[in-house]
Amino acid sequence: EAKNLGSNNFVLYQADMAKQIVQRRELENELREAIKEDQLFLVYQPRFDIHAGRIHSVEALVRWLHPRHGLLMPDQFIPLAEESGIITDLTDWVLVNACRDIGKEFNHISVSVNISPIEFKDSDVTTRIKNVLAATHFPAERLELEVTETVTLCSPENAHTVMQELKTLGIRLLIDDFGTGYASFYYLHSFPFHGIKIDKSFIFAMNDSQSAKSIVEKIIGLGKDYNLEVTAEGIETQEQLQQLIKYKCDVAQGYYIGRPVSLEALKDNLHIIECNIEARCDATL
Ligand code: C2E
Ligand code: MG
Ligand code: MG
Ligand code: MG
Repeated sequence: EAKNLGSNNFVLYQADMAKQIVQRRELENELREAIKEDQLFLVYQPRFDIHAGRIHSVEALVRWLHPRHGLLMPDQFIPLAEESGIITDLTDWVLVNACRDIGKEFNHISVSVNISPIEFKDSDVTTRIKNVLAATHFPAERLELEVTETVTLCSPENAHTVMQELKTLGIRLLIDDFGTGYASFYYLHSFPFHGIKIDKSFIFAMNDSQSAKSIVEKIIGLGKDYNLEVTAEGIETQEQLQQLIKYKCDVAQGYYIGRPVSLEALKDNLHIIECNIEARCDATL
């Protein structure tokens, strides 16, 4: 009997797999359409320069309003985009829209865009980005690119060359989710990064762990030794912000600073957001 159950389960499992493959293909095709038909949209989360007391850039985060599934978050379609090769078109869409949006509404703040590590395997990233900057008339000095440290592991020589080209254009490169990868600080330093973004898991852990606080303090110290701008991601509380200011962190990002919002909301509320954060920072002194 158990054997029977087992084989039934296997049949079910197979049917399940087949269904998943079909659904995946479907989602893949729908994502291609979504890019063409502007079903994607961007929200922007402020990055606050603690020393200067102002918002110096916003991170563009992609969303997909799917006709049947509703709102999809990046974790639900970025991996698919990476595996199917759609990521190149998706990134181009994000870059064009982010540069156009921010260039149109602001003349001082920068925008940062997430790039998948696999895109650094090709040598044409630089060309693609140059094209976007030309098409949108957006200054390279106001574009930041975020990439996880795995970029330095999969095809290091090419990644290094591409990054150097981007840096020469005036673009700033940031290591995203810092601390979750495997690359050593020393190795990372040989790449032309402008800054690091400490992963939010470290910031969350500061709540109830003295050792997590001390790790964050040390990462910030190391970042400074290597002349890197240090951002803390995922700041949700006054206490976390207070600690980070004490540790001389450069840039603050997180729900406590500001949630990701639409371009319209950003435009209407930039000053309010800025004043609120300033007050919150001052309150910690
Ligand atoms: P990320 O680049 O590390 O972005 C930060 C994520 O943390 C965002 O999630 C943001 O909404 C969220 N977050 C910000 N502050 C807080 C906070 O205080 N608490 C908590 N719990 N979360 C916070 P989101 O928008 O869901 O994006 C998830 C990831 O998807 C991003 O992580 C990034 O790796 C990827 N992603 C987003 N947009 C794009 C894109 O346009 N292209 C690519 N390749 N990846 C993207
Ligand atoms: Mg990011
Ligand atoms: Mg990321
Ligand atoms: Mg991150």
